[in-house]
Amino acid sequence: MREENCIFCKIANGEIPSKTLYENDTFRVILDVGPATKGHALILPKKHFADLYELPEEMAAEVMKLAKKMAETMTKKLSCDGFNLVQNNGEAAGQTVFHFHMHLIPRYKDDSQKEKLGWTPGKPSHEELENIRTMIVE
Ligand code: AMP
Ligand code: ZN
Repeated sequence: MREENCIFCKIANGEIPSKTLYENDTFRVILDVGPATKGHALILPKKHFADLYELPEEMAAEVMKLAKKMAETMTKKLSCDGFNLVQNNGEAAGQTVFHFHMHLIPRYKDDSQKEKLGWTPGKPSHEELENIRTMIVE
């Protein structure tokens, strides 16, 4: 379960050095080399899954447990004021490395990012919302 030429496979398995914050049999947590803020880190599974769709359900649960643990530790150690979890799937969603990863992004009152990462709120009508709800649940 390792993909040739996948940089995150190599980093997660220690073939390429990284600034590792935590490691167990299943995951490695590393500092992002293009951080949004001070301490921006990534949870990488050691096995290759391209994205959330490929990630087994049990591992998805483990990722969230680890994210909580890392967020608690990093908040204490970095004295950040808030925390974003971000996880991109597919080019259309901004994914650039096609090995599942969860972004851990410490936030600071005076950091350079917009307070709310990522989107401009739309203004759908009641009918549009109902149509979408129907598409998803039916
Ligand atoms: P995404 O856009 O969600 O696929 O995020 C990919 C992330 O991986 C970006 O935040 C990059 O800065 C980060 N990244 C790419 N290559 C490396 C690397 N060699 N070591 C650490 N982080 C990396
Ligand atoms: Zn990989």
